[in-house]
Amino acid sequence: MNDVRPPNAPWRALNPVEAAGGYLSYYYSDDISPLPVRWVTKPRDNKSDPNLETCTYGLFSTCSPNMRSGLVQNKATHIFFFTRRNSERQLAGYYRVGWYAIGPQGPRDYCLAADKSHFVQFPISLRSIDARLSTNFSRWFRGLRRTTEKETKQLVVLLDEQPDVRQKYLDEIDRLERFNLKHGGFRYIGWRRSVPFSWDEAIRYLSAPATIATSVPNSSPTDKWQCSHCGHVVQNKALLKQCPACDRLGTLRPSVS
Ligand SMILES: [Zn+2]
Repeated sequence: MNDVRPPNAPWRALNPVEAAGGYLSYYYSDDISPLPVRWVTKPRDNKSDPNLETCTYGLFSTCSPNMRSGLVQNKATHIFFFTRRNSERQLAGYYRVGWYAIGPQGPRDYCLAADKSHFVQFPISLRSIDARLSTNFSRWFRGLRRTTEKETKQLVVLLDEQPDVRQKYLDEIDRLERFNLKHGGFRYIGWRRSVPFSWDEAIRYLSAPATIATSVPNSSPTDKWQCSHCGHVVQNKALLKQCPACDRLGTLRPSVS
């Protein structure tokens, strides 16, 4: 089988620049999980990123397009993933980004792959990080902000103090997917998807050329999307990369009715 894991094609080396620092990036975590894994059970919007199965971001989902394109353009080194738990923002882990690839959603749709990932059992509140590092991460920002080179190195050291528990996250993601399967008939209900994410699955997403010249909006006023190929209408809050009816990639557009 064609191996599409990095560093193989179509992945390209990012060659990140330390002076470019990193990105703090928000993700939705699952409120029925003791670990801050992505929100697999989010109603009508099951989340696939951060995708720890493949240590990628934006390969399967259309989340955070501005973070992904900004990181590639600036050659930033790390993504720090934070989420909301117990009414406060908490840092759960990071990717050190090694590669990027062009996705099917238009010219600025980049998929990112880590050459190292590190996720911790006990996420650290941004407020307590500020107290320790004299940073201002707990000051309000929307969902994305840059970190300086110095802050980037400090955050890596802080998270590295705890062991990496990626396997526990993977076990928990599987448990939540089986919860969806039991109660909604699929592991990813809006996607009509019954199997876990894996590199085998990634081949389809990576072999689809960027078919559209302009970026597609990744929100719809109706939370509905229509496939430009087969006409199927999907209800899901976030834009899906793949049409659940005909399996084509990059064909869903916001539906106004
Ligand atoms: Zn379709």
